[in-house]
Amino acid sequence: MICELCGKEVPRTRTVSVEGSVLSVCGECAKFGSEVAGPIGVRRPGNLADPVVAQRLERRQQRMAERDIYGTPAAEELAEDFGERIRQAREARGWKQADLGAKVNERASVIAKLESRAMVPTDAMIPKIERVLGIRLREKVEPVAVKKHSGSAPVTLGDLIRMDEE
Ligand SMILES: [Zn+2]
Repeated sequence: MICELCGKEVPRTRTVSVEGSVLSVCGECAKFGSEVAGPIGVRRPGNLADPVVAQRLERRQQRMAERDIYGTPAAEELAEDFGERIRQAREARGWKQADLGAKVNERASVIAKLESRAMVPTDAMIPKIERVLGIRLREKVEPVAVKKHSGSAPVTLGDLIRMDEE
């Protein structure tokens, strides 16, 4: 179980009411609220009485789902200097823009636009260019919510409450 206030992994959580929000928290955090009756740690967001908490948890789950699309905790984004990476790798191979274009089924003018960053490669082009040139155009980007807090602990409702207050 994960404490929804501090994010600590604990064998069991306690259900307490903190400033009107019902949370599953660790023993440490339980003292910040008053214990409420009910089964421990089996609530689903949909069953929450407090719509604000339910919404927050739903948003958190959405964020987690978005992160899952990219596989691992960190998402990948197109590198800012993708144009430079393409140009350098192409020139290192002695290829003209048309040569690279032919290998990835794009016109030389498209390659020129990519290298000058007048155009952003499509999701379909990125892996082709990476494969042909043997480079990476994407780099891992930590999700914003995690970046705000130094550790790698999962985002908890406590974090969300703090973020909303900032
Ligand atoms: Zn806690």
